[in-house]
Amino acid sequence: QKFVYDFTEGNKDLKDLLGGKGANLAEMTNLGLPVPPGFTITTEACKVYLDSGDAPKELRDEVSAHLDALETKMGKKLGQADNPLLVSVRSGAKFSMPGMMDTVLNIGLSDDSVTGLAGQVGGDERFAWDSYRRLIQMFGKTVLGVDGELFEDALEEAKTAKKVKVDTDLEAADLKKLVKKFKKIVSDEAGRDFPQDPREQMDLAINAVFDSWNTDRAKLYRRQERIPGDLGTAVNVCSMVFGNLGPDSGTGVAFTRDPASGHQGVYGDYLQNAQGEDVVAGIRNTVPLADLESIDKASYDQLMQIMETLETHYKDLCDIEFTIERGQLWMLQTRVGKRTAGAAFRIATQLVDQGLIDEAEALQRVNGAQLAQLMFPRFDEDAKTQLLGRGIAASPGAAVGKAVFDSYTAVKWSRSGEKVILIRRETNPDDLDGMIAAEGILTSRGGKTSHAAVVARGMGKTCVCGAEEIEVDTKRRRLTVGDTVVEEGDVVSIDGSSGKVYLGEVPVVPSPVVEYFEGRMHAGADDADELVEAVHRIMAYADRRRRLRVRANADNAEDALRARRFGAQGIGLCRTEHMFLGERREMVEKLILADTDDEREEALKDLLPLQKQDFIELFEAMDGLPVTVRLLDPPLHEFLPDITELSVRVALAESRKDANENDLRLLQAVHRLHEQNPMLGLRGVRLGLVIPGLFTMQVRAIAEAAAERRNAKGDPRAEIMIPLVGTVQELEIVREEAEAVIAEVQAATGIDLKLALGTMIELPRAAITAGQIAEAAEFFSFGTNDLTQTVWGFSRDDVEASFFTAYLEKGIFGVSPFETIDKDGVGSLVRQAVEAGRKTRPDLKLGVCGEHGGDPESVHFFHEVGLDYVSCSPFRIPVARLEAGRAAA
Ligand code: PEP
Ligand code: MG
Repeated sequence: QKFVYDFTEGNKDLKDLLGGKGANLAEMTNLGLPVPPGFTITTEACKVYLDSGDAPKELRDEVSAHLDALETKMGKKLGQADNPLLVSVRSGAKFSMPGMMDTVLNIGLSDDSVTGLAGQVGGDERFAWDSYRRLIQMFGKTVLGVDGELFEDALEEAKTAKKVKVDTDLEAADLKKLVKKFKKIVSDEAGRDFPQDPREQMDLAINAVFDSWNTDRAKLYRRQERIPGDLGTAVNVCSMVFGNLGPDSGTGVAFTRDPASGHQGVYGDYLQNAQGEDVVAGIRNTVPLADLESIDKASYDQLMQIMETLETHYKDLCDIEFTIERGQLWMLQTRVGKRTAGAAFRIATQLVDQGLIDEAEALQRVNGAQLAQLMFPRFDEDAKTQLLGRGIAASPGAAVGKAVFDSYTAVKWSRSGEKVILIRRETNPDDLDGMIAAEGILTSRGGKTSHAAVVARGMGKTCVCGAEEIEVDTKRRRLTVGDTVVEEGDVVSIDGSSGKVYLGEVPVVPSPVVEYFEGRMHAGADDADELVEAVHRIMAYADRRRRLRVRANADNAEDALRARRFGAQGIGLCRTEHMFLGERREMVEKLILADTDDEREEALKDLLPLQKQDFIELFEAMDGLPVTVRLLDPPLHEFLPDITELSVRVALAESRKDANENDLRLLQAVHRLHEQNPMLGLRGVRLGLVIPGLFTMQVRAIAEAAAERRNAKGDPRAEIMIPLVGTVQELEIVREEAEAVIAEVQAATGIDLKLALGTMIELPRAAITAGQIAEAAEFFSFGTNDLTQTVWGFSRDDVEASFFTAYLEKGIFGVSPFETIDKDGVGSLVRQAVEAGRKTRPDLKLGVCGEHGGDPESVHFFHEVGLDYVSCSPFRIPVARLEAGRAAA
């Protein structure tokens, strides 16, 4: 195993081994671009070091051999007193982690070689001593762990003593004194002297770079960016070039095109007579890169040439760091540059137009997360804000409105034209009206799959949940954070993409991409928005390639129509429980309270026409496309009043001796239906089996609605789905009853309704016995929300707010399994069920309707296991289309 590669030995595809920086330095070297010679120590060496606490034994000799070669090439030796070779030691992981890890410049300087350096640069003593003090400062801080402030303070003191403002006004003698002081700081603080042996400097710096992989801030960054923690970093040892040797020197950054807009042009900054760290520190103001043309035309022209070479070679936007040393241009780094979401779409299509990449490659240059980002309205970034608190970014977007603390007020105020933010401790189905009326939802409890989060995402409504610092007091209609009190009616702004909550109004800008999907903005027009144009084209590339169809989770005509505009090819999940809320709650109560068959039938009879009307509207909105209607799923208590509230009400009434009969019956029912684990209780198919007539009423409503649509010359394509099935027997019983009802309706109307019957696979037992279940099901739809809950034994309503943070921190998983499908566990069951199901019934239709259906990474998985479609909330449809296309490209 080889641990060290010369820049001439690597290439851009060796990022795993050489890190991004090392691989690209090698690539540029081999392209014949001016890169200062050097070598890269591999990530493998780092891994050995991190695992064992020691660098691999072979490393020292390999480094010596490469150093020898470098010294020969450069004609000088590391730290040689009269003519020193100086090197930089820089970190460089596979994925860029800007500013997270360590770098040490000017390695090789010592009390002896500092004068040698002055000689090399024409006797510039000031420069030599300044370089030396920089080395001690950087080395002291990053390698020896000395508090950087101590050096900064000493530097400030030196400037004050001399009555000057900027570093450059310090002269050689001042800097020489400063070096002495810096060395003393090192000896005092680090318990050792600053090493004078250049090789020791280098070896210690290399180890420090290895160690910097595991600093707290690096770990935190990796967690946030989902970078695996075991990759390690490479170390680049590169001969130093100096941008601070006078006005004919300098340093800069450049982009081959604008990372914000994607436009080609001259983008970047340049700082004369400076080193890279001066740019970062913002010590002096940079000038636009274009100004370099008048400062040093030859270097500028050469740089433009190189930028073109790089873009054509990488076929992408590159960013570049360069230094000019006395008129000689050097490339210090390049990489495929980060860009905004909008620029990613524009650049991808621009590169297609330039013939540099094809459509399939263009799809790999963008992703669903970027598209999602472009679809949400945003807060104006330049606005002044007052942060109130921070919660979980549950459903993206930017919402502003008056604080209200109950649904009733939300509806009332919004009817009178007010924009409101509904603020609750947590939400429940009772809050639905308020949630619909509100611009956004803020809760102080609950995680990403809490009721508030799931429903808000479904509606495409901004939601911040679990903002724990915020105390919600619904009784007094206000919230408090520390000393700040927000009363009902005070304006708040919530950012569902960052989880931030602000006091007051933050200005919002709408998304042109949503305007486009909604049909309010068009591609192809003369003045079309460039971004919209690019999104339009990329979506076409994706639609042409994808195999997965994309359906919507929608349960009313309005959502269905929007989903269609967004490209939905049907409805994959219509949750009928949403049709049982609001004014119909009373009917549902009647159904639950029914003591006799007559009472029950009466209640069902009242519900039937309402259900039927819902379906007629839905089938009309989705005419010609499949609509999967799921029969009632949630535990019944969700339709009844809260047990505590009701108990209090009844107790109070009893003490006044005016308890009403209905409340008493209700309370009995609530007690009777109360369950310790309602999600594992009487719900789904179990309801259908124990409440006679419930499912058949729903089936009748579906069948009659379909018949009516057919009579109106429509093309309804209903599919009836049974939830929470665990065994084929459950399905068989329900199926038989349903078929009888359908046959009745067909006989009565004389129409062959062609209604498909299928089931959700959302329990482990269903997945395991999928082969049997397929005998009674014409389709499966994977309910990966419940399947994740039951496979992991995680309560989907609780865990994200309780211990998921700890799990994420400990790296047990990098992302919640409720968000991205757990391929090894839940996913493996899905895969088995797909195979077993298809074995029984080769034409079995397969889809997924859990939240994962709109998650980019999960969509790729569903493509791979061979599902026919994914179903997700209307707003995620474009993302699912894009990712399905990317998966197939
Ligand atoms: C599921 O469990 O994945 C599902 C889609 O059903 P619900 O979220 O309604 O339980
Ligand atoms: Mg479910």
